[in-house]
Amino acid sequence: MEEVQGEKQSSRLVLVLYPFQGHINPMLQLATILHAKGYSITIIHPEFNSPNPSNHPHFTFISIPDQLVESGVSLAPGDFIDRVLALNKNCTAPFQKCLERMLDDDQKHPLERIAGVVYDCFMYFVQAVADDLGLPGFNMRPTAAAILLFSVVPHTEQESIFESQISELQPLELKQMLTSFSMNPSDNMKEMRAASLNAIRSSSGIIANTMEFLEHAALSMIRQYSPAPVFTLGPFHKLAPSCSTSILQEDAHCISWLDKQAPKSVIYVSFGSMASLSKQEIVEIAWGLANSKQPFLWVIRPGLVHGSEGTELIPDGFRQKVGDHRGFIVKWAPQREVLAHDAVGGFWTHCGWNSTLESLSEGVPMLCKPCFGDQFLNMKYICYAWKIGIQVESELERGKIQGAIKTLMADIQGEEIRNKAMELKRKTILSLTEGGSSLSSLEEFTKQMLSI
Ligand code: UDP
Repeated sequence: MEEVQGEKQSSRLVLVLYPFQGHINPMLQLATILHAKGYSITIIHPEFNSPNPSNHPHFTFISIPDQLVESGVSLAPGDFIDRVLALNKNCTAPFQKCLERMLDDDQKHPLERIAGVVYDCFMYFVQAVADDLGLPGFNMRPTAAAILLFSVVPHTEQESIFESQISELQPLELKQMLTSFSMNPSDNMKEMRAASLNAIRSSSGIIANTMEFLEHAALSMIRQYSPAPVFTLGPFHKLAPSCSTSILQEDAHCISWLDKQAPKSVIYVSFGSMASLSKQEIVEIAWGLANSKQPFLWVIRPGLVHGSEGTELIPDGFRQKVGDHRGFIVKWAPQREVLAHDAVGGFWTHCGWNSTLESLSEGVPMLCKPCFGDQFLNMKYICYAWKIGIQVESELERGKIQGAIKTLMADIQGEEIRNKAMELKRKTILSLTEGGSSLSSLEEFTKQMLSI
């Protein structure tokens, strides 16, 4: 920290949230990491899905109007582009006013200055406001860094670069993904891509929730094309272990249930905060779990099946088959604690990036059923690049589910996957120790902040 007339001047960072669970978690974790490095933290967030300030007494929270509900934007997972565009449009003026007010206050309190603004990559409007007010802006990526390749590699070069991609990236089948992205992009999609690329280009840095060893090839390609430095501080939740960031109430009873289970015996099943399933899929999952004979902890979030609580769809006879003790169903779990529990030996996931990092950093192998967006790329990383998971066929069928659970958790065919998962856990720990890549990257970030 600098000195002003012999007194220490402290620095404040302003962090801007995109208000959905998979984005709120990493941003609040990053805030906790940066707070531990000595920064004061202000979180600016849309009114929609406001985080609970009492869980973070050290941060200042400011909400800004977002008009999301009033503008009639769909909240369905697949309609995220309209939502992103609406938030970027509606939040710009209130955010600018709010930041100007904070800068005015700064002048009255010379012992604290705003050092920079860190924003979720979906809230890209922030970069232009930060530029306008002369503040450095940092683009926070809560997804795999590889997703950035679709932005930073020039469009005219993407096809040939992805075709001749180096072997480490081959399992991601980027060329195939590019073809599906490029097929009839809507005007809204084009607008979002262009604006988000502009933000990346003028940012002072990219803060990625990933690790160097995990995405080595993607990161070196990004660094070839992006002028902004890339800081890899992931997995954020391991550097900020103690903060609760859930919007839904976590049911902690499942931890006492896990305490009674044998080591590595339980399959944890959860499809995150946005994915949805059909009624028939719930029935197939239920019978697959029941027939696998494996203990299970299953998250059935209200809305997982559209317009339903979900639990009423569990078929007759399921409870008799499972008995009172082999299975536990909750609406929302303390997932990071669950995955770190000794009893958990496998995770059936939709492959959201947070879930992916939370699982691999605990050495838990995965069954993968991606539902939309970047989850397909994450699945390819998990199953075909890192080889710590098994892809579940997209059409769910109880017999195949039962077989996949057995392979992942118990059979000899799954042993290599289980060993590989433990190897990635060890590498994760190394990244997070003194001299490891994530801690070194955090040091580089703070050095850069001091030099601005
Ligand atoms: N999560 C949780 N409890 C649950 C299910 C999910 O706390 O029962 C958390 C999980 O730990 C993760 C986030 O919700 O941090 C989901 O993010 P992810 O990127 O995996 O998927 P998304 O919900 O964005 O699709």
